[in-house]
This record gives sequence, structure tokens and C-alpha cells, in this order.
Amino acid sequence: MLDFSDLPVVDAHCHPYTRKDALSPDQWVDALAFGGGSPAYLREGGIDVDAAALTMLGRLKRDTLYFRFMLRRLAEYFGVEATVEAIAASRNRAIAHEGYAKYAQKLHQAGKIETLIVDDGYPLPQINLDTFRAETGVEVLPVFRIEVLIQDLLDDGCGWREFQRRYDESIAEALGNRGYRGLKSIIAYRTGLDIDPASRSPDQGRVALERLRRARGRGGDDPVKSLRDHLFCRAIERCIDFDAPFQVHTGMGDWEVHLAACRPALLMELLRYPAYRACKFLLVHTGYPYHAEAGYLANVLPNIWCDISEGLPFAGNAGKRIIAEVLEMAPISRVCYGSDVYGSPEPFYTSALLGKQALGQALGELIDDGFMSVGEAQDAARLILADNARELYRI
Ligand SMILES: [Zn+2]
Repeated sequence: MLDFSDLPVVDAHCHPYTRKDALSPDQWVDALAFGGGSPAYLREGGIDVDAAALTMLGRLKRDTLYFRFMLRRLAEYFGVEATVEAIAASRNRAIAHEGYAKYAQKLHQAGKIETLIVDDGYPLPQINLDTFRAETGVEVLPVFRIEVLIQDLLDDGCGWREFQRRYDESIAEALGNRGYRGLKSIIAYRTGLDIDPASRSPDQGRVALERLRRARGRGGDDPVKSLRDHLFCRAIERCIDFDAPFQVHTGMGDWEVHLAACRPALLMELLRYPAYRACKFLLVHTGYPYHAEAGYLANVLPNIWCDISEGLPFAGNAGKRIIAEVLEMAPISRVCYGSDVYGSPEPFYTSALLGKQALGQALGELIDDGFMSVGEAQDAARLILADNARELYRI
């Protein structure tokens, strides 16, 4: 069994977190667990959220393999029983005793986490990154989510001339002067990844915005999709100008994601469009559960990176299989560790542990099958856990 526990980690995709307060066991579960729905989800559907519904939601969150793994690793970390109650109490006690910053820093150090590439488009309102940086004690590099800007401009009601000027200037300012290391898009949550590369045509944004604003015109394409596709293509050009990577959400997400329109294969026309070939794309979540498609794209196109976040850790024991299947086609130098975790420092630590464990299992099998030596597996782990992301983000 390969042991990568001492290797440093760059988390290529995660979110800043807020929960510094003492949390009850249920609050802790709510802050960290993935899936299982929420009271707001039920209420929006007109369903009464009574005590029985809350118990059901809490149980779903505690019943995933991801959650069980996190619980067991934290039980070892704190030296307590693997129950939510014991771990929430240990967490609250440690924060009260040593202070929140010290507590967070120790967890990041235990996971050997050196750098977090954070998408500060979640949570909203945005968290102050200087505070976050000071509290975590690690390097924190933000990426700029274009949908937050698009929503602001849509809410503002401005016309196309001002819309396009502010859109371009805000992105240039973020990449040029505000320390953002790349852009991020969640268009897979909005209108899907089947983006027409010709959407950059000069009038597409203007026509789509006018149709949206004045409900003018009839027939033709959906103006919302037309506008978002256009803005996505404009963002690619800014990434090329600043030699900054573009993170594109692919594959699973929370319940709002457009699951049928999030397959990496839908991006192929866009990715190989001549005008965009200079852009470095990071396929966030490597398209899980369609991760083999992302691996293929990273093989046949030279500027595509795969980030294994979200499938790892949220798909639990699938981590080793995801790594193995992405590596079926993706070059080793194009795969990055990421977690996509949020909420509180604990899952950053347990996700790093799971990433190292899954890599050890996947690469161990490749050694057994005669694809690499132990030395090559160690080099591959170093690349995937940290060095590929360092190269991509020029860290
Ligand atoms: Zn994310």
C-alpha cells in the first residue's frame, strides 16, 4: 500500500467557509454534509417541514458514505467515538479552548494542505478573503465566478453598451488587479454546456439582452441561453488575454444542476474552436459521473485539465475508481486534486486524507498491472496532489 500522507496538497477547487461558532450536532451535519435535501427545498414545493421531515433530512445526510468516512477520520483525529455528538462536542471544545484560527490551522496542517484555490461565488454574500487567509494559515488564491457578475448586471437593468463594458472591465480588473487567479463558470447550472462557439458574434449579446429586457422579438433561440453563451465566450477571451485558467463546472452538483446538460462531451465543439484553443480549461469535478468523457478531452486536446473534486470526496468510495477511470485517458500531468468542500475546516482535512488514500489505491493497482514503477507512482501522486495545480495557476 502506497502511503502519500506526507505529501503536500493544493486544493484546486473549494469554497471559503464561515462556521466559527459552536454548533449543535444537527447544525454541524447541516453545515458540512452533501445532499439529503434541505427544509427550504421542501418548503418551496409546499411541503410542511415538521419534526418528522427534519428527522428524515438529518438521517439522509448522515447516511452517505462520504459522511461516514468523515466521521471516522475525525473520530481518530479527536480520539473520540465516531458519533456526530462526540465529534461536534470535540470541535466546539477545541475552538473554545485554543481559538478558531488555531483550530483551523491545525486541521489544514494535519492534511498537509498548503494552498486553497477558492471559488468565492459560494457562499454569498462573499467571505472576506483576508480574514479567511489569516484564519486558515494557508495560501488562499481566489477564482472569479462570472455568474455573480452577470446576475448583478441583469439586476441593474442597464442597456447592452454599459452591460458589456462593465462585464469586460470587471473581469479584467479581477484578473489584472484584484489577485484572482482565474475565472469560474457554473453555466451547467443555468443553460447547460452545449455552448455554441459562434456565440461570440458581435451582436449576439446585444440582441439577446434586448429580447430579455423588452420581451421583444419572437421565436428563435432562448434569449437567456443566447446571452449566457455569448458572455461565456467573452470570458474565454479575457482568460486568454491574462493567461488565466477557466474553471468550468461539469458533472454533478447540488439538486439545482442541469444534470442532463452538464456532460463534458457537450463542451467539445467549444473547446476545439480555433479562437479558443489558447485558453486553459479546468473541467471542475471532472464531469463525474461522466468523468471518462473529461479524461478523453484532456487526452485529445492539449489545454484541458481535470479536477477530481466533488466526486471525491462526496461519492465516497468511488474516489479510487474516479482516479483510475480519469487516468485511463487523461495524461497524469493534467489531473488535479480538489475537494469542493465548504462550511468548516473539518472536511478540508478529511477530503485530503481520502484523496491520498484513493490515489494510493488507484496507483497501487497500476503498479501491480505493470503500468508504472513505485517511483513513478510517487511522482504521479505529487503531480496530482499539488504540482499540476501549481503549474496551471502559476503558483
Ligand atoms: Zn464548488
